[in-house]
Amino acid sequence: MIEFPHGGRKVRRRYTIRRADPAVGIAEFEFELHNHGGAATRWAAEANLGDHLSAIGPRGTMALRRETTAHVDATAHLFVADDSAMPAAFAMAEALPPHTPATALLVTPHGPLSRPGPTAAVADLRQFWLEDTELEATFSGLDLAPSVAAYVIGEHHLVRRASELLASTGLDDAAISAKPYWRNDRPNAPHGEPARD
Ligand SMILES: Cc1cc2nc3c(=O)[nH]c(=O)nc-3n(C[C@H](O)[C@H](O)[C@H](O)COP(=O)(O)OP(=O)(O)OC[C@H]3O[C@@H](n4cnc5c(N)ncnc54)[C@H](O)[C@@H]3O)c2cc1C
Repeated sequence: MIEFPHGGRKVRRRYTIRRADPAVGIAEFEFELHNHGGAATRWAAEANLGDHLSAIGPRGTMALRRETTAHVDATAHLFVADDSAMPAAFAMAEALPPHTPATALLVTPHGPLSRPGPTAAVADLRQFWLEDTELEATFSGLDLAPSVAAYVIGEHHLVRRASELLASTGLDDAAISAKPYWRNDRPNAPHGEPARD
């Protein structure tokens, strides 16, 4: 959770530690430079070498799951993520044990491979780069393993739609980890989470 200057005060916004090397004292972040303004995006767009920010972390509740539901091992993993959530999806994919089947639905208006992807260590990750309007069609073509652990992260309405699509395939709610990162109709709250209804 990072503090950004905002009209003479500070607001908090949440960002994913994409990579870190605590021994060297380095943490890497990837900012989606969206064009709707916002304190975090303005700061990132104008940042200069040597600028400082205050942050608290690491925090967060979403992590790779060993089990989909109680006593059912996760044998495959599915990530649905937009640009804001690809750092999280790729960091989690890179942390999977080698040769674990994994699929990523990467929802972006910017086209395939339009941002840094996962490292070669997860070259086996099945990646689908798609536009928001292609979500339903892409889902219908997926052959999901019955014991898949799903992670759905990104814009509020996308998270809701993708969670409903997953549930409609018969996947147990408990196998779906869902977290909205932002809302396309309002700024995030001062503590950094999307505003609730
Ligand atoms: C746990 C967590 C981890 C996150 N990790 C990352 C990360 O690693 N990288 C990253 O880029 N984002 C990440 N986000 C999302 C990021 O915190 C939000 O996008 C945040 O709203 C950006 O703040 P802002 O000050 O730029 O815009 P805000 O002041 O929150 O919003 C201003 C306007 O911009 C719009 N907006 C906000 N975000 C976006 C967006 N991504 N695309 C288009 N329009 C937008 C809003 O709808 C609003 O109209 C994460 C969020 C959470 C909760």
